[in-house]
Amino acid sequence: MNYEGLSKSDVLRLLKEYLKDDLTYKSGRILGSMCTSPHSFAKRIFIKAIEKNLGDAGLFPGAMKLEQEAISMIGSLLSKSDASGHIVSGGTEANLMAMWVARNLARKDRPEVIVPKSAHFSFDKAANLLGLKLIKIGLNKNFQVKTEVVKKSINNNTVALVGVAGSTELGTVDPISELSDIALNEGIYLHVDASFGGFVLPFLRDLGYNVPSFDFSLKGVCSITIDPHKMGFAPIPAGGILFRNPEYIKSISIKVPYLSGGETTQATILGTRSGASAIAVWALLKHMGRKGYQKVVKKCMNLTDMLVKRVKRSKKIYLVTNPIMNIVGLASRSLEPKQLADKLRKRGWAVSSTSTHIRLVIMPHIKRKHIIEFLSDLEEISV
Ligand code: PLP
Repeated sequence: MNYEGLSKSDVLRLLKEYLKDDLTYKSGRILGSMCTSPHSFAKRIFIKAIEKNLGDAGLFPGAMKLEQEAISMIGSLLSKSDASGHIVSGGTEANLMAMWVARNLARKDRPEVIVPKSAHFSFDKAANLLGLKLIKIGLNKNFQVKTEVVKKSINNNTVALVGVAGSTELGTVDPISELSDIALNEGIYLHVDASFGGFVLPFLRDLGYNVPSFDFSLKGVCSITIDPHKMGFAPIPAGGILFRNPEYIKSISIKVPYLSGGETTQATILGTRSGASAIAVWALLKHMGRKGYQKVVKKCMNLTDMLVKRVKRSKKIYLVTNPIMNIVGLASRSLEPKQLADKLRKRGWAVSSTSTHIRLVIMPHIKRKHIIEFLSDLEEISV
């Protein structure tokens, strides 16, 4: 650090230089991210609320109330407006909290959690941090967890089952209603990771799509991850964790004695945490309304359908599976996914690659022209 500070214009010049190689959502070239440019109204609110700290709740009772109202609005999307929970830093923190709760409620010496093979790597992090053994279950031909294997894998040490509603790699939805029945029969905690799908599936259902139950309408579902900073259009960081029963969260609550806002408890992993995130989510939900999100999802799905139709006509590339939502897995008949992703990156396209396919996420910043340009490059590359 310099002893004398630099002028603001010098700092700005340096920043411009450093950030010039970063991709932007606006360019339409980020085709493999679950994030997008946040809604302009949410950005304004975020900056207005930048100093709020939900870690010191007693100082910011208004912000606390807004967080709880945001949770209630999100809960109403998931068939439970009286769910309890928090706006957290993202899906990773939300999944970690759910696993923390499940472990603490069950109090087993050697806790195990059963997850689909498609589960996000945040569960590996949670397992490592919480001392959980992860049992990973294979998928059926529709890329959903094999529920009969889940059932057989339950033992005395099982503390939770996990189902995914909108998988990271393909956007598939596990048979959550079957998992719910299993969880109820066996008396085991069930967590649903709808980190991405939570802000898609309810609106797809509104639009007339056939969406299976995945939320608190299923009695066995104990908690759900749902992230406003993915399809919710909110500024990063904004994850969501919702619990069916307010007692659950008490199992991870810790007394906080020293804060200037007065003694309180915290159940989040972070201490000091962004009030701006929660307030921006509240404002966005109020402003967008259900109809606003339906429009966003419809636009993304229309583009996804267009992409799918064109891919089906191609001789060089193919769909890994028919997409359920705006996540598409593509593979080339001539190139490995990693080779394909690297070649695309050289042409300025950022997609993710897995061992079997490249993944596109058709987020709100993607326009028709981007898809047309992308497909033309893809055809050229896939010799
Ligand atoms: N769960 C799922 C299904 C995801 O796809 C992701 C991220 O892509 C996460 C959890 C983790 O979310 P975050 O990156 O916000 O921590």
